[in-house]
Amino acid sequence: MNNIVQPLLELQEIDSRIRELQQEIQDIPERKVQESRNLNNAKKDLDKAKANMHEQEVAINASEAEIKAMHERIDQLQQNQGNLNSNAEFKEFSLEITKLTKDVETQERLLLIKQDDLIPLQGRVAEAEAKLEKERAEVEGYLEELDARLAEVEEALKETEAERAAFVANVSPSLLTYYNRLRERRWPILVELLDGGACNGCHLVQPPSKMQQVKLGDKMVTCEMCGRILYYPQV
Ligand SMILES: [Zn+2]
Repeated sequence: MNNIVQPLLELQEIDSRIRELQQEIQDIPERKVQESRNLNNAKKDLDKAKANMHEQEVAINASEAEIKAMHERIDQLQQNQGNLNSNAEFKEFSLEITKLTKDVETQERLLLIKQDDLIPLQGRVAEAEAKLEKERAEVEGYLEELDARLAEVEEALKETEAERAAFVANVSPSLLTYYNRLRERRWPILVELLDGGACNGCHLVQPPSKMQQVKLGDKMVTCEMCGRILYYPQV
């Protein structure tokens, strides 16, 4: 088949590869951002676990300080008890000491519960740290892969662009000009003329004379509506 648009079909195949490579180059930064976003979630989980643990530690410290102050108060009362003048006062001190001693026992029980509650919170921090480390290693590995892939694709694009430059040197300038101009607005540029005579780009049915011209294949025939170059697939 001596079809005048055959070189343009080959050019379109080269351009199709160029477009894919360009698209991949364009997508890689977004893929990297996505990966880093996963890491941010792991970081947030760790921060939250640490905040919960810290809150518990603060509560424990406050309890311990309170218990210590109560013990000091009891010691003080006991020391002063010897210097009292009346039995009434002595009794009053004793009552306060008894009350404080009970309070200390209550606070110490609560402190034990708080300390027990701290253990799972520490566990969650350790878990979140391990998860972050694992994800960091994975993300770093993946980012390296993407960088390597980017270098590969950029190299392939350069080669394909060189292939295109060499190829177009042998394409008729008038065909090439039309093709290049259309390429800025449409893709694909060459489309099959379907069995019923419709353009496979915009689906407008072409007049019978055009269908005949496409069949002959000795000149470039374009769609009335979208301007795409029409061809019959080779059998
Ligand atoms: Zn069309």
